[in-house]
Parts: sequence; structure tokens; C-alpha cells
Amino acid sequence: MKLRMIPVSSLRKISPAIAVLPKTADSFYQSKEWRSLVVTIIRKRGRICEKCGRSNCRLFADHIIEIKDGGPKLDQRNIQLLCGSCHTLKTNQARAHRMRLRPQPLGGYIKVNDR
Ligand SMILES: [Zn+2]
Repeated sequence: MKLRMIPVSSLRKISPAIAVLPKTADSFYQSKEWRSLVVTIIRKRGRICEKCGRSNCRLFADHIIEIKDGGPKLDQRNIQLLCGSCHTLKTNQARAHRMRLRPQPLGGYIKVNDR
């Protein structure tokens, strides 16, 4: 099988389940409440990835239980600071779980039947 490059814009149309795309900027993430909460958390916990311990990198405040899955938006206990790679990994796993897809050892996902 030959792999070819697919433009990201068409990838989204083909398969939203596997397309790796940044979250679209939700107005919530622009809100004053969210931003000041993130500043507070970084001050408290330090500018460090809570998963791998990386520092001196861009951090993402991540909802441990995603809002889409019913997690509280502004509860510090539901927020973890992640570096770019940990955040991407976690986001993709959560999405795959939501789509009932199972990650495969060699990469990619397969769809898991409900029954
Ligand atoms: Zn990390």
C-alpha cells in the first residue's frame, strides 16, 4: 500500500475519527474565568508537564474528564497541565474512546463493535 499526503482540510471530511487536529478555539477557552484559572494553576503547580515532567515548553491546561464527556469546566481537580505531546496523546485517546475505537499496537485505530 502506498501512502500519500492528504491535505488536513480533506482529512477532516474523510475521517473525523482519526484526523489529528487542534481543537477549534471554543469561546470558553477565551473566557476570563478559564484564563485566570489556568494562570492560578500554573502559579500553584509550576510550569511543568504533570505527566512526563517536561518543563520549558508550552503547556496545555487539559480537562482530565473532557467537557464533552461531562467533566466540570472550572474545577481545578479536573485540570492537568500537559506538554504538547502528552496533550495530543491524551486528546486522541479520549477521542478514540468516545468513538469506540481501539488503538492498535502498530498505530491507527480500529472500530470496535458495540455488541
Ligand atoms: Zn508531557
